[in-house]
Amino acid sequence: MGREQGEQDRPADVREQGAPLSETARGKKREKAGDQDGKISGRALGRMVEAFMRLPGIGRKSAERLAFAVLGMPKEEANSIAQAIVDLKNSSRYCAECNNITEDEICGICRDEKRDRTLVCVVEEPSNILVLEKTGTFRGRYHALLGALSPLDGIGPEDLKIDSLMDRLRAGGVKEVIIATNPTVKGETTALYLSRLIKPLGIIVSRIAYGLPVGGDIEYADENTVQRALQGRREM
Ligand code: ZN
Repeated sequence: MGREQGEQDRPADVREQGAPLSETARGKKREKAGDQDGKISGRALGRMVEAFMRLPGIGRKSAERLAFAVLGMPKEEANSIAQAIVDLKNSSRYCAECNNITEDEICGICRDEKRDRTLVCVVEEPSNILVLEKTGTFRGRYHALLGALSPLDGIGPEDLKIDSLMDRLRAGGVKEVIIATNPTVKGETTALYLSRLIKPLGIIVSRIAYGLPVGGDIEYADENTVQRALQGRREM
């Protein structure tokens, strides 16, 4: 696939830039790209591209663009990006209570006495907490599972932060658990599993509603989304 991309893209790129290449030069370039399986030359540059490609949502083309952007930066700027990555990894850890990302033992949300202790919102990843916090509407606390159940991938309850969630709930004080796992097979499986586990404790278990995106059109939504929107309706 990398080879195909390299062979298809390179000549087009050259044409776009209007650089007149002789047939032999073009042939050579193509041969070089083929030899390297579509990878760009330069070992450090290649490593940078590979590194960016490990990030979510970044394909080879974007990774190459980013790598060249770094290459074109003043040295201090590139250093500060590298340092930010090192600092992030060195200073960040999971909150001992909710598994949110924090630099301290306990995260700011768990330390905030003004937040509702009776309400816990369960999410798959700490990044989901950030998204929910941006809405500014939820004043309870969170619990990140650090994943979702996936029997096919061999991910069971023991691989997630479910035990610590149950410990928190058994400690008392929580009246409702809102399950905000993703609307995927894994997320739904996890939600169902948790609901069966939590309900016997006498705690209300709710699932966040899924529906149409704001500004969206019903006509373009898939049946599952419309079905969810209907199920998640509320009285006006
Ligand atoms: Zn926390």
